Amino acid sequence: MKIYVALGVDCDPDRDRLPSLCFKGVESLHKLFSIENVRWTLNYRLDKEVNVCSTEIKTPFYPKTEIACHIHYCKPDGSQDFSDKNIDETIKMGVFSYDTVHVGWCYNSQHSEALNDYSPLPGCRISQNCDWIGWGLRHQNRYGKRMIPTYTAPFTWFYRRILGKQSGNRFMLHPTVSPLLYRPFIRSWFKSGLDYFVTYFHADELISALPDYRKHLYSFKNLKSNIKYFKSMAKKYGHDIEWVTIRELGEVLWK
Ligand SMILES: [Zn+2]
Repeated sequence: MKIYVALGVDCDPDRDRLPSLCFKGVESLHKLFSIENVRWTLNYRLDKEVNVCSTEIKTPFYPKTEIACHIHYCKPDGSQDFSDKNIDETIKMGVFSYDTVHVGWCYNSQHSEALNDYSPLPGCRISQNCDWIGWGLRHQNRYGKRMIPTYTAPFTWFYRRILGKQSGNRFMLHPTVSPLLYRPFIRSWFKSGLDYFVTYFHADELISALPDYRKHLYSFKNLKSNIKYFKSMAKKYGHDIEWVTIRELGEVLWK
Protein backbone atom coordinates (compact mmCIF):
# COMPACT_ATOMS: atom_id res chain seq x y z
CA MET A 1 0.00 0.00 0.00
CA LYS A 2 1.13 3.55 -0.66
CA ILE A 3 1.08 5.81 2.39
CA TYR A 4 1.32 9.59 2.29
CA VAL A 5 3.32 11.34 4.97
CA ALA A 6 3.22 15.10 5.66
CA LEU A 7 5.08 16.81 8.49
CA GLY A 8 4.48 20.41 9.51
CA VAL A 9 6.41 22.85 11.68
CA ASP A 10 4.77 25.62 13.69
CA CYS A 11 7.21 28.53 13.50
CA ASP A 12 6.51 29.96 16.94
CA PRO A 13 9.00 31.81 19.13
CA ASP A 14 11.11 29.82 21.61
CA ARG A 15 8.93 29.03 24.59
CA ASP A 16 11.80 29.10 27.09
CA ARG A 17 12.28 32.83 26.38
CA LEU A 18 8.68 34.00 26.46
CA PRO A 19 7.38 36.66 26.91
CA SER A 20 10.40 38.09 25.06
CA LEU A 21 10.32 36.95 21.45
CA CYS A 22 13.32 34.90 20.38
CA PHE A 23 13.40 32.69 17.25
CA LYS A 24 16.45 30.45 17.59
CA GLY A 25 14.22 27.46 16.79
CA VAL A 26 13.00 29.02 13.53
CA GLU A 27 16.59 29.94 12.68
CA SER A 28 17.52 26.26 13.02
CA LEU A 29 15.00 25.03 10.42
CA HIS A 30 17.85 24.40 7.96
CA LYS A 31 18.68 21.32 10.06
CA LEU A 32 15.55 19.66 8.72
CA PHE A 33 17.01 19.45 5.24
CA SER A 34 19.64 16.95 6.35
CA ILE A 35 16.79 14.44 6.70
CA GLU A 36 16.31 12.79 3.34
CA ASN A 37 13.07 12.72 1.37
CA VAL A 38 10.77 14.59 3.76
CA ARG A 39 8.78 17.46 2.27
CA TRP A 40 8.14 19.98 5.00
CA THR A 41 5.20 22.30 5.49
CA LEU A 42 6.41 25.37 7.38
CA ASN A 43 3.64 27.17 9.22
CA TYR A 44 4.60 30.81 9.59
CA ARG A 45 3.14 32.53 12.58
CA LEU A 46 0.61 35.31 12.11
CA ASP A 47 -0.93 37.28 14.96
CA LYS A 48 -0.76 40.47 16.96
CA GLU A 49 1.80 39.11 19.40
CA VAL A 50 4.31 38.12 16.74
CA ASN A 51 4.65 40.21 13.61
CA VAL A 52 8.09 39.36 12.41
CA CYS A 53 7.85 35.97 10.70
CA SER A 54 5.53 36.99 7.93
CA THR A 55 7.92 39.66 6.74
CA GLU A 56 10.94 37.35 6.88
CA ILE A 57 9.53 34.92 4.36
CA LYS A 58 9.18 37.41 1.53
CA THR A 59 12.63 36.18 0.52
CA PRO A 60 12.86 32.78 -1.22
CA PHE A 61 13.00 30.06 1.33
CA TYR A 62 13.73 26.35 1.12
CA PRO A 63 12.95 24.28 -1.99
CA LYS A 64 10.25 21.61 -2.07
CA THR A 65 8.63 23.18 0.95
CA GLU A 66 5.16 24.54 1.44
CA ILE A 67 4.81 27.88 3.19
CA ALA A 68 1.65 27.72 5.25
CA CYS A 69 0.14 30.05 7.79
CA HIS A 70 0.11 29.45 11.55
CA ILE A 71 -2.50 31.80 12.94
CA HIS A 72 -2.83 32.47 16.64
CA TYR A 73 -5.79 34.54 17.65
CA CYS A 74 -3.84 36.55 20.21
CA LYS A 75 -3.84 40.01 21.66
CA PRO A 76 -0.51 41.87 21.62
CA ASP A 77 0.13 40.62 25.18
CA GLY A 78 -0.09 37.01 23.95
CA SER A 79 -3.42 36.15 25.58
CA GLN A 80 -6.04 34.48 23.39
CA ASP A 81 -8.92 36.39 21.85
CA PHE A 82 -11.42 34.46 19.73
CA SER A 83 -13.74 37.43 19.21
CA ASP A 84 -14.93 38.02 15.63
CA LYS A 85 -13.24 41.43 15.69
CA ASN A 86 -9.84 40.02 16.59
CA ILE A 87 -10.16 37.12 14.12
CA ASP A 88 -10.98 39.56 11.30
CA GLU A 89 -8.16 41.91 12.21
CA THR A 90 -5.64 39.09 12.53
CA ILE A 91 -6.47 37.57 9.16
CA LYS A 92 -6.15 40.96 7.49
CA MET A 93 -2.58 41.21 8.81
CA GLY A 94 -1.41 38.47 6.40
CA VAL A 95 1.21 39.72 3.92
CA PHE A 96 1.71 36.45 2.08
CA SER A 97 -0.78 34.18 0.36
CA TYR A 98 -1.20 30.61 1.50
CA ASP A 99 -3.21 27.50 0.66
CA THR A 100 -2.82 25.82 4.02
CA VAL A 101 -3.31 26.84 7.60
CA HIS A 102 -2.50 25.30 10.95
CA VAL A 103 -4.11 27.26 13.74
CA GLY A 104 -2.54 27.81 17.15
CA TRP A 105 -4.29 25.93 19.95
CA CYS A 106 -5.87 24.06 17.08
CA TYR A 107 -8.77 26.45 16.68
CA ASN A 108 -10.29 26.24 13.20
CA SER A 109 -9.60 28.59 10.32
CA GLN A 110 -13.03 29.18 8.89
CA HIS A 111 -12.38 32.88 8.29
CA SER A 112 -9.01 32.55 6.58
CA GLU A 113 -8.26 32.31 2.85
CA ALA A 114 -6.77 28.82 3.19
CA LEU A 115 -8.18 25.88 1.29
CA ASN A 116 -6.57 23.24 3.53
CA ASP A 117 -6.70 23.23 7.31
CA TYR A 118 -4.82 20.65 9.31
CA SER A 119 -5.72 21.98 12.75
CA PRO A 120 -8.07 19.18 13.87
CA LEU A 121 -6.81 17.01 16.71
CA PRO A 122 -9.27 14.11 16.80
CA GLY A 123 -10.37 13.17 20.30
CA CYS A 124 -8.89 16.28 21.96
CA ARG A 125 -10.58 19.15 23.72
CA ILE A 126 -8.02 21.91 24.09
CA SER A 127 -10.59 24.43 25.28
CA GLN A 128 -14.23 25.29 24.74
CA ASN A 129 -13.27 26.94 21.45
CA CYS A 130 -11.07 24.07 20.28
CA ASP A 131 -13.10 20.95 20.70
CA TRP A 132 -12.23 18.04 18.42
CA ILE A 133 -13.74 15.31 20.59
CA GLY A 134 -16.31 14.29 17.98
CA TRP A 135 -13.80 14.14 15.12
CA GLY A 136 -12.63 10.95 13.51
CA LEU A 137 -9.25 10.32 11.94
CA ARG A 138 -10.44 10.90 8.36
CA HIS A 139 -10.46 14.13 6.40
CA GLN A 140 -13.73 15.93 5.74
CA ASN A 141 -15.20 19.16 4.38
CA ARG A 142 -16.13 21.64 7.08
CA TYR A 143 -16.18 25.46 7.37
CA GLY A 144 -15.71 25.54 3.57
CA LYS A 145 -12.27 23.96 4.00
CA ARG A 146 -10.51 20.69 3.38
CA MET A 147 -10.02 19.61 6.98
CA ILE A 148 -7.20 17.12 7.49
CA PRO A 149 -6.74 15.73 11.01
CA THR A 150 -3.31 15.51 12.56
CA TYR A 151 -2.15 12.39 14.32
CA THR A 152 -1.04 13.50 17.77
CA ALA A 153 -2.30 13.38 21.35
CA PRO A 154 -1.49 14.69 24.78
CA PHE A 155 0.48 12.11 26.72
CA THR A 156 -2.11 12.26 29.47
CA TRP A 157 -1.26 9.09 31.33
CA PHE A 158 2.40 9.97 31.71
CA TYR A 159 1.54 13.55 32.52
CA ARG A 160 -0.86 12.72 35.32
CA ARG A 161 0.73 9.67 36.89
CA ILE A 162 4.42 10.39 36.65
CA LEU A 163 4.72 14.16 36.59
CA GLY A 164 1.70 15.10 38.65
CA LYS A 165 -0.18 18.34 38.05
CA GLN A 166 2.24 20.86 36.63
CA SER A 167 0.45 24.19 36.52
CA GLY A 168 -1.58 23.39 33.43
CA ASN A 169 1.37 22.43 31.22
CA ARG A 170 0.54 19.77 28.75
CA PHE A 171 2.94 17.87 26.60
CA MET A 172 2.07 16.41 23.30
CA LEU A 173 3.27 13.43 21.35
CA HIS A 174 5.09 15.21 18.56
CA PRO A 175 7.70 13.47 16.36
CA THR A 176 10.40 15.41 18.23
CA VAL A 177 9.55 13.69 21.51
CA SER A 178 11.68 10.94 23.02
CA PRO A 179 11.52 7.73 20.94
CA LEU A 180 10.72 5.87 24.12
CA LEU A 181 7.36 7.66 24.13
CA TYR A 182 6.88 8.04 20.38
CA ARG A 183 7.55 4.55 19.11
CA PRO A 184 4.39 3.05 20.65
CA PHE A 185 2.48 5.97 19.10
CA ILE A 186 3.93 5.20 15.66
CA ARG A 187 2.97 1.56 16.09
CA SER A 188 -0.61 2.65 16.94
CA TRP A 189 -0.75 4.55 13.64
CA PHE A 190 0.36 1.51 11.65
CA LYS A 191 -2.38 -0.53 13.32
CA SER A 192 -5.00 2.15 12.46
CA GLY A 193 -5.09 1.17 8.77
CA LEU A 194 -4.89 4.83 7.71
CA ASP A 195 -3.18 5.62 4.43
CA TYR A 196 -1.88 9.04 5.44
CA PHE A 197 0.13 10.23 8.41
CA VAL A 198 -0.03 13.94 9.15
CA THR A 199 1.51 15.52 12.17
CA TYR A 200 3.44 18.56 13.34
CA PHE A 201 5.83 19.91 15.92
CA HIS A 202 7.21 23.31 16.97
CA ALA A 203 10.44 24.90 15.74
CA ASP A 204 11.76 25.36 19.30
CA GLU A 205 11.64 21.60 19.84
CA LEU A 206 14.52 21.26 17.34
CA ILE A 207 16.80 23.08 19.77
CA SER A 208 15.01 21.93 22.96
CA ALA A 209 14.20 25.56 23.82
CA LEU A 210 11.26 24.70 26.04
CA PRO A 211 10.65 25.61 29.64
CA ASP A 212 10.62 23.19 32.59
CA TYR A 213 10.90 19.38 32.21
CA ARG A 214 9.87 19.59 28.54
CA LYS A 215 13.36 20.66 27.43
CA HIS A 216 14.44 17.09 28.19
CA LEU A 217 11.66 15.56 26.12
CA TYR A 218 12.03 17.13 22.66
CA SER A 219 14.99 17.38 20.30
CA PHE A 220 16.16 17.24 16.68
CA LYS A 221 17.94 13.99 17.49
CA ASN A 222 14.62 12.47 18.57
CA LEU A 223 13.02 13.66 15.32
CA LYS A 224 15.65 11.91 13.21
CA SER A 225 15.31 8.75 15.25
CA ASN A 226 11.49 8.75 15.06
CA ILE A 227 11.49 9.31 11.28
CA LYS A 228 13.97 6.47 10.88
CA TYR A 229 11.71 4.23 12.97
CA PHE A 230 8.66 5.28 10.93
CA LYS A 231 10.51 4.32 7.72
CA SER A 232 11.48 0.94 9.21
CA MET A 233 7.88 0.26 10.24
CA ALA A 234 6.66 1.13 6.73
CA LYS A 235 9.14 -1.37 5.36
CA LYS A 236 7.95 -4.01 7.81
CA TYR A 237 4.33 -3.47 6.71
CA GLY A 238 5.34 -3.44 3.03
CA HIS A 239 4.15 0.17 2.55
CA ASP A 240 5.72 2.65 0.13
CA ILE A 241 6.02 6.15 1.56
CA GLU A 242 5.22 9.18 -0.55
CA TRP A 243 6.41 12.32 1.23
CA VAL A 244 4.11 15.26 0.57
CA THR A 245 3.30 18.78 1.72
CA ILE A 246 -0.18 19.44 3.09
CA ARG A 247 -1.18 21.15 -0.16
CA GLU A 248 -0.09 18.08 -2.12
CA LEU A 249 -1.92 15.77 0.27
CA GLY A 250 -5.09 17.85 -0.12
CA GLU A 251 -4.83 17.40 -3.90
CA VAL A 252 -4.51 13.63 -3.47
CA LEU A 253 -7.36 13.31 -0.95
CA TRP A 254 -9.81 15.50 -2.89
CA LYS A 255 -8.88 14.22 -6.34
ZN1 LIG B 1 1.70 28.11 17.73
